[in-house]
Amino acid sequence: MTASSPSTATPAGPHADRPIVIKAVRAYALGVRLAVPQKSSKGAHQISEILVVEVETSDGIVGLGEGFCRISAKLHAAFVDQLLAPRIIGRDVRDRRALWKIMRASISGQPGGQIVEAMAAVDMALWDIAGHAAGQPVHRLLGGMGRTELNAYASSVMWADDRSVEEEIGLVLDAGYKEIKVKLGRPVEDAVARAHFVRRLVGDGIKLYADANWAFDVDDALRVAHGLADAGFLFFEEPIVAHDREGYRMLSRRSPIRLAAGEADYVASEALAKLTDRSVGLIQPDVARSGGITETWRICELAAAHHTAFAPHMGLSGAICAAASLHLAAAAETFLTYESMYYENPLRTELCDPVVGERQRMKDGKLPVPTGPGLGVTLNRKALEKYRIA
Ligand SMILES: [Mg+2]
Repeated sequence: MTASSPSTATPAGPHADRPIVIKAVRAYALGVRLAVPQKSSKGAHQISEILVVEVETSDGIVGLGEGFCRISAKLHAAFVDQLLAPRIIGRDVRDRRALWKIMRASISGQPGGQIVEAMAAVDMALWDIAGHAAGQPVHRLLGGMGRTELNAYASSVMWADDRSVEEEIGLVLDAGYKEIKVKLGRPVEDAVARAHFVRRLVGDGIKLYADANWAFDVDDALRVAHGLADAGFLFFEEPIVAHDREGYRMLSRRSPIRLAAGEADYVASEALAKLTDRSVGLIQPDVARSGGITETWRICELAAAHHTAFAPHMGLSGAICAAASLHLAAAAETFLTYESMYYENPLRTELCDPVVGERQRMKDGKLPVPTGPGLGVTLNRKALEKYRIA
């Protein structure tokens, strides 16, 4: 979508206090069939779809953003075209908080679902523009923690048979990861056996985390948590249904290891509920789902205020989400570790230059923080066309 009235063209560059006016918003639905379906307790994910948004200013700056979809990218693109773009074209990029509220006003009732994921893509693009206009990487605009590299973990060893788990563990150790997350599922006995099996494979020097993707009820989750603690695991992600608040509260009071959750949250108020009652020790918002950098940064600040660790969620997302997640990780006071996906997905490795957040960028188990202005990545237009859903 493009502004109907002619824009006042000014040269690109540092903007001092001049408006940065949104001229056009373009939304693209992208998708791939994964070479290896990703197996968790919820089943196998074969398809990865993402929403990519470009926002262009009247000065000719183009910002990039990504929205979380999995299987509905065309629906997300329609939200951008029909609901969000008409509300923000002609507005000033520097008013990102106000623009978030304006976009949020397109939702009646509680904010959530696909519209917030579409908003995430637009918001991310606004931050990319702000960084380019200021000549600064986004993590600097957020305040910065002086980090140049980030702890990172391999995600995720699948909930599959022992032989394939052994192969995957070999692959991530060869790639140099020092932290690994393992998917778990029912029954309890198999989950606990898997935890010990993986510990025997990796030895003592590797940090291990577990993710159950809602597989258990509170009682069974507690039994698994004890098994994980025995095997020296450090956090237990989504042991129970994501929105069972009372369940998380009960479990957290008795679990011998740190609980983690947050990837299913859309807005900061949902994260706040977990933080205030201390039902998680690690909050994991996904910047491509939780309303973009504006809202996810609010979650990072709430986590810091509650002395609770933060780790960005990546899952099936693409390269732009990876870049935004690295900037949040670089700037967040209580950042713990970055979710580095290691299975093949061209939406992560082909969509942008340079490649960020991937195992080939890792040194001594750490990933570099992007240094370029904005999100620090540019769109590969050939890949955009290659993976575009007609
Ligand atoms: Mg997870």
